[in-house]
Amino acid sequence: MTSPAALRPTSPGATEAHVVIVGAGIVGLSTAWFLQERGVRVTVLDRTGVAAGASWGNAGWISPGMSIPLSEPSVLRYGLKALTDPDSPLFVPVRLERELVGFMLGFARRCTIGQWRKAMQHFVPMNGIAIESYDHLAAKGVVAPVHDAPLMAAFLAEADTVGLEHEFDLIREAGVDLVADLVSGEEVRAEVPAVSHEVEAGIRIRGQRYINPGEYVESLAQAVRDRGGEIILGADVKRLRQGPGGIACELVGREPVRADQVVLATGAWLPQLARETGVKTILVGGRGYSFSVPITSEVPMPVYFPVQRVACTPLGERLRVGGTMEFRGPDEPLYPQRVDAIVRTARPLLSGVDWDDRQDTWVGARPVTVDNLPLVGPTKVPGVWVAGGHGMWGVTLGPATGKLLAEYMVSGRCPEPLKALDPTR
Ligand SMILES: Cc1cc2nc3c(=O)[nH]c(=O)nc-3n(C[C@H](O)[C@H](O)[C@H](O)COP(=O)(O)OP(=O)(O)OC[C@H]3O[C@@H](n4cnc5c(N)ncnc54)[C@H](O)[C@@H]3O)c2cc1C
Repeated sequence: MTSPAALRPTSPGATEAHVVIVGAGIVGLSTAWFLQERGVRVTVLDRTGVAAGASWGNAGWISPGMSIPLSEPSVLRYGLKALTDPDSPLFVPVRLERELVGFMLGFARRCTIGQWRKAMQHFVPMNGIAIESYDHLAAKGVVAPVHDAPLMAAFLAEADTVGLEHEFDLIREAGVDLVADLVSGEEVRAEVPAVSHEVEAGIRIRGQRYINPGEYVESLAQAVRDRGGEIILGADVKRLRQGPGGIACELVGREPVRADQVVLATGAWLPQLARETGVKTILVGGRGYSFSVPITSEVPMPVYFPVQRVACTPLGERLRVGGTMEFRGPDEPLYPQRVDAIVRTARPLLSGVDWDDRQDTWVGARPVTVDNLPLVGPTKVPGVWVAGGHGMWGVTLGPATGKLLAEYMVSGRCPEPLKALDPTR
């Protein structure tokens, strides 16, 4: 691959380069913010709103200790078992679209320990700068809180801790500095009183953070505006056209927006615009559901139930409860039976929750690539870049991605951690 030219203004008389970022999620807005940091003028376009995709109702964990490729061998075993259980957190439609067949086969092929280790090597450097990238944003005007707290994994049976401990050994072997301690059920409840008496053991994972993702992404958007960036909502990009003086983003029912360069950060919708730019890696929507419930017991840190695949995040007086990996298109409706399944699964795990007062019921599509690696870098069309495909870990890795991509675009030199993430691989 030849290196792209460093970003320069192309319009006559312009003193600063102008980049359009398509997609106002955590990845697009982080990219916009870090480009501004390097003196670039930015316009962010989103067809719906700020955090309208996966970046709103997710669990909000900034957990570099757990940000790993999805294709672990146990995922395949678990996936096959889960297909026969109607309450399973995994859903694969009976009739598969061609794209999804390709994804399933390619994904299954990579569920080996060797492939996992290979992919993990490329997560390690990104994980290493995840928290400092959030610190950078906080130091310079992104005001939404980032909570410094451990993450508690809780288990109904002590024997079930073995799987996660084994996974942690592999993560450490790969070079992640992960500090986790095995604790008893009593210790779990002493720290998180809302955890039910059925819980026998826990693993406390230190050094992680969490956010209220919707609030955080809004705050990031405000910081981009405060620095002179423009965010245009209701701007549905249907096509990119190269022309003299840069790239035009053609919009549905509106005048095109032109820029020197464009970044596609459209989450699970990425293939719609990126395929024509030479991005062939299969990316599908792995949809997750969440809702919030009032809670009278204390939950001072995020709680994860690995066996049940339920993630809980404190949001003030309420608790966000989420889970599910449903392979359906990102624009399909919310299926209430998936929410009911999460409630049935989570009810015995927590106390002090009013399960009937559910609010903010939400579905969002994780952008999951077949090879488990994000897609970050230039495409085959000069001036068009891609930032996405972070799957389960876009919140953790969004700011780090924005930071590295901005460096790449402005300098024309690919930072080491992005080398394996070439979107045209
Ligand atoms: C239940 C759940 C829990 C999760 N928990 C965590 C977690 O704890 N930690 C973590 O790190 N990650 C988590 N994730 C993953 C994380 O949410 C995603 O990886 C991340 O939000 C993806 O961000 P993004 O900016 O790439 O995409 P999105 O947030 O989906 O943003 C894409 C944007 O592009 C816009 N768009 C699409 N097409 C167009 C177009 N043609 N024109 C204009 N705009 C367009 C959309 O409207 C959308 O706003 C979770 C995901 C789910 C579903």
